[in-house]
Amino acid sequence: MSSFVETEEQQALRKAVAAMAANYGEKYYLEKARAGEHTTELWSEAGKLGFIGVNLPEEYGGGGAGMYELSLVMEEMSAAGCALLLMVVSPAINGTIISKFGTEDQKKRWIPGIADGSITMAFAITEPDAGSNSHKITTTARRDGGDWILSGQKVYISGVDQAQAVLVVGRTLREDGAHKSESLRPALFVVPTDAPGMSWTKIDMEIVSPENQFQLFLDEVRLPADALVGSEDAAIAQLFAGLNPERIMGAASAVGMGRFAINKATEYVKTRQVWKTPIGAHQGLSHPLAQNHIEIELAKLMMQKAATLYDLGDDGGAAEAANMAKYAAGEASVRAVDQAVQSLGGNGLTKEYGIASVLVASRLARIAPVSREMILNFVAQTSLGLPRSY
Ligand SMILES: Cc1cc2nc3c(=O)[nH]c(=O)nc-3n(C[C@H](O)[C@H](O)[C@H](O)COP(=O)(O)OP(=O)(O)OC[C@H]3O[C@@H](n4cnc5c(N)ncnc54)[C@H](O)[C@@H]3O)c2cc1C
Repeated sequence: MSSFVETEEQQALRKAVAAMAANYGEKYYLEKARAGEHTTELWSEAGKLGFIGVNLPEEYGGGGAGMYELSLVMEEMSAAGCALLLMVVSPAINGTIISKFGTEDQKKRWIPGIADGSITMAFAITEPDAGSNSHKITTTARRDGGDWILSGQKVYISGVDQAQAVLVVGRTLREDGAHKSESLRPALFVVPTDAPGMSWTKIDMEIVSPENQFQLFLDEVRLPADALVGSEDAAIAQLFAGLNPERIMGAASAVGMGRFAINKATEYVKTRQVWKTPIGAHQGLSHPLAQNHIEIELAKLMMQKAATLYDLGDDGGAAEAANMAKYAAGEASVRAVDQAVQSLGGNGLTKEYGIASVLVASRLARIAPVSREMILNFVAQTSLGLPRSY
């Protein structure tokens, strides 16, 4: 889309995704989460219908469309109460990186499965002692004959228990065992989840979600030469190729969640009546909801701009817009969810009405995949040319 009007195909896709997601909805999502189960049925139906791989190349089983379409899928699923984090990770980050930088064999091996949902690939960059400062990651790979030996630790890695493989961001060592550089010169490895030496423990989170987070331990994991995706050193462009999609999808998830909350609240306040009129007539409720709607629509516009620029190949323009969209959508959805809970009064805090559970989940949009503060740093430095404090 390079106009404000979505094409007929995009509108049809939106409708089809919304219709599929409505058959599951937040009740299904929360039931699965509370039972400690995964949303396997939803994932495999979305895969079969071509929604998960809509952005991936047609020759490897994808839909041949772009990030615009994938973000639309994410937004509609999230608006139906099914914001799946693995949509951000598997097709958007990993699918993009492998289809842009993988070898022919790697593409054939991974992309068709990622596209139809039969393969899920987690993504691991965050480390306990590095956090937002990815330059400090210490997961290292050294050569051993034709193989790679990978060691390190990762934290908050989503969906490892559902994944067949993890795309791990590490760095290669010099022959003498020293780090090549202080700054990040990443190397990306596909590590099958059954690789000897890789283990994980679940992190207990307060988020009600069918997807779990893990601490990942890589203890001298031996990988064949073709586990490396792209350059063995300074694959920064490759990593960045995955980061714009990640931010656009983070924004899409938050926009969808905001829509979900506003929808729930407006349905409720239209009928709930404790004075002469439904409570939605009181401006103390209608104005904040109108404000939430405006903020979500503005964030969505920036998300669409980011996806459009990305699909046109303007990575620099997409980076600024994707960061801004992720920031705006995160802030708008946190406020929308808070206002939705408020609009439902006591019912807002019950399990039955299904909105309180979103309170913690909505905060994720301020923290991951990149925090609000790191986006403000990016905009201050890149858009405004201000100096860094760190
Ligand atoms: C549910 C969930 C799922 C996740 N899934 C994944 C995943 O699948 N894969 C993966 O690799 N990671 C994942 N993450 C990790 C996520 O990307 C990080 O949590 C995030 O990047 C922040 O890092 P941190 O938690 O270490 O916070 P820290 O870096 O310790 O930051 C803590 C606070 O300090 C602020 N701060 C840090 N540096 C600065 C600075 N220079 N200026 C101003 N403020 C600063 C931050 O903004 C934040 O508010 C996930 C996290 C969560 C919560």
